[in-house]
Amino acid sequence: MGQGGAIGQRRPDEREGRRLAAALSIVPRVVAVILDGLRRDFVTAGHTPHLARFRAQAAFFAAHRSVFPSATRVVAASFATGCHPARHGLQGNSVALLESGVFVRHDAGGRDFLQHKRRVTGTSLAVPTMTERVRGHGGAITFSNASPGAAYAHDPDGHGFLYNRAGSFGPGRVPVAAGDELHVTGDLAGDRAMTFRFIAEVLDERRPALAVLWLHEPDHMQHELRLGSPEHLAVLRQADGHARLVLDAVDRLRSNGEDILLVAGSDHGHQTVVGVVEIEAQLIAAGLKAGSSSGDVVSVSSGTSALVYVHPDCAARVPALADFFAGCGWAGRVIPPDRLYEVGQAPVQGLAFAVSMRDEDGSNECGVPGLSLEALPGPGKPNRLGFGQHGGLGRYEQSPFLMIAGTGFEAGAVRAEPTSIVDIAPTVLRHLGLPAEGMDGRALQRV
Ligand SMILES: [Zn+2]
Repeated sequence: MGQGGAIGQRRPDEREGRRLAAALSIVPRVVAVILDGLRRDFVTAGHTPHLARFRAQAAFFAAHRSVFPSATRVVAASFATGCHPARHGLQGNSVALLESGVFVRHDAGGRDFLQHKRRVTGTSLAVPTMTERVRGHGGAITFSNASPGAAYAHDPDGHGFLYNRAGSFGPGRVPVAAGDELHVTGDLAGDRAMTFRFIAEVLDERRPALAVLWLHEPDHMQHELRLGSPEHLAVLRQADGHARLVLDAVDRLRSNGEDILLVAGSDHGHQTVVGVVEIEAQLIAAGLKAGSSSGDVVSVSSGTSALVYVHPDCAARVPALADFFAGCGWAGRVIPPDRLYEVGQAPVQGLAFAVSMRDEDGSNECGVPGLSLEALPGPGKPNRLGFGQHGGLGRYEQSPFLMIAGTGFEAGAVRAEPTSIVDIAPTVLRHLGLPAEGMDGRALQRV
């Protein structure tokens, strides 16, 4: 690595000088590689041989959980901040915002959503990100091939470098130079090109304190394939190959004496969709919502979960809504306003109920367990009937994988205690010797 054309504009002696300086001073740094949507039970010698082999070098977290909703934009914000949505404020993959007293629906995956949210609510994310916290301490560079909204959740206010196919930014959210943009596709080929660039430019050359590579697969294709089908397993093998490139690169850097904490994980798993529910149509039929475009009660889907907003003028309708949801067979778990904190949410911005759609442990036709109902996605978005989806509290969507290698993590250990996405940020900061106050999670090192 390091001889690629993309970095040819920098002089070799400069690169070599930085390598020597880093090797001599042994500045600790952190590398995180995230495989979007990879279920923990798919991390096996048969499906993902390279990740499975990494278990011998790392601590494996056997009871690791996502946040709620288990959806990438939300999880990226929780990964970045070490906080649940109640504190960082990105409530779902889709949300409603009260704008001039009226609910407006938003897809949080759009490239401008967090900037818009700042204008409406005063903050993009309401707590600092890791990128903000490491600014001035070696900095952060994130390459994310997820949706723009999910990518920008790592650094919505421009404290470091953030690369995504919809636009790449440096500090101050200043766009990077034209030749430095990330022109990749949101699929396996794009992940592969992004991985090579990440290794050559970020790991070998620029060497930030925190380097994050967020791959779009297998999540992207799992939404279009039957989980466990030959086509799906082929995607897993290729995604595993991309992870291997990073694992090997970090091995090489460590052999030069570098102190690197290596985090390999995913943000959530997937369930198979066995039915699609039109929640708003049911609310209208029950007389609890005036019409399809009415702003009294609004339900927005995050896949296998939904967030239900009640306009402040209609707060008296909350008990009737609670009664209605209690009688709905398609609702797995309904969290009312006064209990939203139990799932890491808060009754703010009009959010009243969170619904995790019904799930069960039965298997799909390929023998993969974990079935769920899906809340009908917003206009223009396909439902995923028969294919993979996530967002709720189902067992398998709440089973991402996590392996960590480096100081404080015993190689080959299986850690059985419950851990969460929000524990990653404090773990990263501890390795870098930086404070992590104000986070929901806790550092996972055992020293
Ligand atoms: Zn997804």
